[in-house]
Amino acid sequence: MQAQVVIIAGGKGTRIASIASDIPKSMIPIAGKPVVEYQIELAKRYGYKNILFMIGHLGDQIKRYFGNGEKWGVNIEYYLEDAPMGTAGALPFVKEILAETFFVFYGDTIMDFDMTEMMKFHVEHEASATLFLHPNDHPYDSDLVETDFNGIIKKFIFKPHDELLMYRNLVNAALYVMDKKCIDYIPEGKCAMEKELFPRLLDANEKLAAYVSPEYIKDMGTPDRWEHVTADVVSGKVKRLNRKYKRPAVFLDRDGVISKEIDLLHKVEQLELIDGAADAISLINKSGYLAIVVTNQPVIARNLCSFEELQNIHNRMETLLGEKHAYLDSIYFCPHHPDKGYPEERVEYKIDCNCRKPKPGMLLKAAEDFNIDMSESFMIGDRPQDIQAGNSANVKSSILIETNVPNALLNAVKELAL
Ligand SMILES: [Zn+2]
Repeated sequence: MQAQVVIIAGGKGTRIASIASDIPKSMIPIAGKPVVEYQIELAKRYGYKNILFMIGHLGDQIKRYFGNGEKWGVNIEYYLEDAPMGTAGALPFVKEILAETFFVFYGDTIMDFDMTEMMKFHVEHEASATLFLHPNDHPYDSDLVETDFNGIIKKFIFKPHDELLMYRNLVNAALYVMDKKCIDYIPEGKCAMEKELFPRLLDANEKLAAYVSPEYIKDMGTPDRWEHVTADVVSGKVKRLNRKYKRPAVFLDRDGVISKEIDLLHKVEQLELIDGAADAISLINKSGYLAIVVTNQPVIARNLCSFEELQNIHNRMETLLGEKHAYLDSIYFCPHHPDKGYPEERVEYKIDCNCRKPKPGMLLKAAEDFNIDMSESFMIGDRPQDIQAGNSANVKSSILIETNVPNALLNAVKELAL
């Protein structure tokens, strides 16, 4: 397979004009190098040596700087748009030179991620396109993506949002793997990848997979963001968040810790946050630790709640946290229960599983999914089962807090001094 990266670099960059108005956005320097040069180095590192630049406004500067790519050990080709075509509009013109499967980068983003893992995910899911998604700390004014339990994209929810919307905090980071056949869905003329091409692919029942990752990817489209990403490049944060480096996590129980414990919570409107929980999670987010929920939900086995209803409950939790700028990197739940014999139960979930706490299954799965450093991680819960699960998963320390007590989680997180 020809390993190819297509870089969309036709944007005008008006919002960042105060920093540099006479160069294309992707050539804006970050710590002494054009932003897109980091992308080329990343691609090279993962063996993607064929780069195709889609250029427009002031694109000759990109061409002059990178030439045929020899100096970077890659082969670079260019397609020059006569007029702005949107992020996808020009792709049909280069169909002949596209690989069967290729990465799409936007030239104005700073990122560092494990390209091999994302491509593997795309192939394993047999998707037509795979979108890199992540939670953020302002989901209420971001375009959102809805997925099913298997990580397949069901819907795009564009802002502005209905204030009653309860959503999963999952935002498109503008980084894709795409099969060539997607190009056939691009209409003539201007076309935006997010607003037009992807919804069209969904309508045509093409499979779009959600690759959810906490690796670093940010655009630098405003002076504020430019300053922010520059600091992150200089401090080494951008590189450090690549999946190949282990990261620590704070594992959190749900009921009684983040949301108010009520017996067998199984309706959306029953979920309320405990005071201080959002602030606690926001502190974890800022510390660089992953925030991961691990929760026993036997309401599924007892048939009090369907998977869809549980998803809605979690959407409400994520929405309420999002309003306070806090986000969860992931939620793991155990739907099982070992005791059979209730008339209404779902027998297939009445099993003695490996995920129900006090067993460490959910923590171990998360450790594998996110490459977590367990020896530097913590578990916070309100029951002995939580503590046992943390200990069995060999976390650094497991902390017991009191059920439903305002600020108990916040105080516990503060004490960790992450
Ligand atoms: Zn289980």
